[in-house]
Amino acid sequence: MEQTNKNIGIKVKLSKKKCKDENCPFHGRLKCRGKIFTGIVIAAKMQKTVTVEFPRQCYIPKYERYEKKRTRIKAHNPECINAKEGDIVKISECRPLSKTKNFVVIENLGKEKGFEEKMEALEEGKKRKKLPSESEEGEKKEVKEEKDASSQSENN
Ligand SMILES: [Zn+2]
Repeated sequence: MEQTNKNIGIKVKLSKKKCKDENCPFHGRLKCRGKIFTGIVIAAKMQKTVTVEFPRQCYIPKYERYEKKRTRIKAHNPECINAKEGDIVKISECRPLSKTKNFVVIENLGKEKGFEEKMEALEEGKKRKKLPSESEEGEKKEVKEEKDASSQSENN
């Protein structure tokens, strides 16, 4: 039997790859229903699972303004789509696949521009926090200078 891409009822670009994943909406038995979101993959280290993040706005009545918030959703990542970190993906709700997973990736829309730069900036921020070691060295130097000064005074 040749595998064919099943029609899931949502207009998406079909990937050319095929897979034997039971929980793939195109090649398995999983049905898509419910909400559809588009977000960025921020972690793809788990097996067949990605974490997708997207911004949303929350209204605060007291200030009559909107607050920026972020939503993180864990979604099943079928082998035929194989989304990686920095990819923009479309996810659809499905039946619960595990304790925390009830979404599935249905389309990979390509890399987000500037994602790698953002991650580099984050890493630089982490490095800056490790700087206090330098200040310790500075203190040691000051101690040495004081000793020198004291020795000079002894000589005089
Ligand atoms: Zn598949």
